Amino acid sequence: MSRESIVVVGAGISGLSAAWELSGGAEGPDEATPRIEVIEDRAVVGGSLATAAFADRTIDLGADGFLARRPEAVELVRELGCEDQLEAIDASGASLWLRGALDELPTGLALGIPTSSGQLKNVRGLSWRARLDAYRDEHVPVRMNIGEDATIGDIVRTKLGRELCYQFVEPMLGGIQAGRIDDLSAKSVFPALLEAAREGGSLMRAMRASGPVAPGPATTATNDGPTFFSLLSGVGWLPGEVARQLRRRGVVLRTGVTVTALRRTPSGSYPWEVDTQDTTTPADAVVMATPAIVTAQLLGTYDPALAQLGNVRSAGAAMITFSVATSAVALPATGTGILVPLGTPWSSGDTMLTTAVTFLDRKWPHLRRDDDVVVRAHVGRIDDHRWSEMSDELLIARVSAELNVLLESFGSPNDALVQRWPDALPQYYLGHETMVTNARVAASSLGVALCGNTYDGVGIPASIGSGRRAGREALETLHFSFH
Ligand SMILES: Cc1cc2nc3c(=O)[nH]c(=O)nc-3n(C[C@H](O)[C@H](O)[C@H](O)COP(=O)(O)OP(=O)(O)OC[C@H]3O[C@@H](n4cnc5c(N)ncnc54)[C@H](O)[C@@H]3O)c2cc1C
Repeated sequence: MSRESIVVVGAGISGLSAAWELSGGAEGPDEATPRIEVIEDRAVVGGSLATAAFADRTIDLGADGFLARRPEAVELVRELGCEDQLEAIDASGASLWLRGALDELPTGLALGIPTSSGQLKNVRGLSWRARLDAYRDEHVPVRMNIGEDATIGDIVRTKLGRELCYQFVEPMLGGIQAGRIDDLSAKSVFPALLEAAREGGSLMRAMRASGPVAPGPATTATNDGPTFFSLLSGVGWLPGEVARQLRRRGVVLRTGVTVTALRRTPSGSYPWEVDTQDTTTPADAVVMATPAIVTAQLLGTYDPALAQLGNVRSAGAAMITFSVATSAVALPATGTGILVPLGTPWSSGDTMLTTAVTFLDRKWPHLRRDDDVVVRAHVGRIDDHRWSEMSDELLIARVSAELNVLLESFGSPNDALVQRWPDALPQYYLGHETMVTNARVAASSLGVALCGNTYDGVGIPASIGSGRRAGREALETLHFSFH
């Protein structure tokens, strides 16, 4: 390997993907490959991706699948030589809890947005008013002046009315980011929606014409094959496998070590020094694959555009996974789960905690057993932290009670597991794209590349793509400085 040195800070899937790219990607290292050191704060690699043993299975504690319509995750799995791990989703559709009952979501929605008024015909829980709003969008669409950007909520509420916006669209689109669609930037989170609204006519017709959509900035979406994949050993297995193969390539991986400072040393033989409590690593270039707040703390003094990253707000969420005897539970006949609109009434004036329910073993065949099913409830949004103040026992009891209402019968679970993810989901508000562009320009002028779920979209494919892009940028920094 050459004497040049690159440090990657953070070993979530984006930092590991950056290191994969730096070490030669599909081809592997050669004599020009720099020395690569990845430093991770936690005891294990993976960040928001992890697995655990539960009810005689290995289950994911974070993401349980990833979009197949974006290429990045599938490509990485193939480059690792692990495509026999890919498992296609084995169920489709979902239900929506409306007015105290489950409605099957129609097929053909574009990330929750209806694409024709006819689709809503069989959704019993919608009012005549919502149906009229949909009909109006097709025949006399509301005009809307859209500037550079608008929130998703603004667009959907204006074009399709309040009920479709908050009861129908928000549970899916807000849920992906644990955010509120009234705050989320259409440009950053759902650019196809912004384009459709800009056309000025029917939003539903324009969404229908735009074809399959994936969340996040525009990318090559494909229409073929399964919509989602998981991995037979769990999605949370992937970071460990990347790390194992990186070590074989000679990459230095340090876990349980916090990066405490990044110091510029322009007059030294290396432009950067990366400090931990006990060590200093000299670096020609640095890849920052940490949450925005950490990146701002470590680099904010070098440029106001990098300090701005400290303003990115992140939502926390928790997932409560249950094993329930097959004979005790009654799930809807089809579908991967249930979406629950925010503000759904619960007892004593309170609202439900549950925002979504996933039928894990219906989605992924490798989790199926004869005697029990695995059901997961999701709780938490950017403005709903009630879960964080409850003990595991209280959370399990409360969510079980909610599931007993949402499902015809839920019985008494054999086992339950609470996984908390504080501050794990960055919110893309208006102006996000400009902030990211400015931060990237400032970082690049310092020989630093930024990646992670703050920049190029939330989700595994987006994070992998972001990491690989940062890896390429860091290699260009070397060529720029030395050749
Ligand atoms: C509850 C939940 C469910 C999700 N479900 C899905 C899903 O179904 N499908 C999907 O595609 N995506 C899903 N996602 C999103 C996906 O998991 C993330 O987009 C992705 O894992 C983010 O990876 P990352 O590397 O950018 O960030 P992270 O995983 O947050 O990694 C950042 C790393 O930086 C480390 N770090 C921080 N500070 C320092 C420091 N000072 N020194 C060294 N290291 C440091 C952290 O310890 C961490 O390991 C979900 C996310 C959550 C939270």
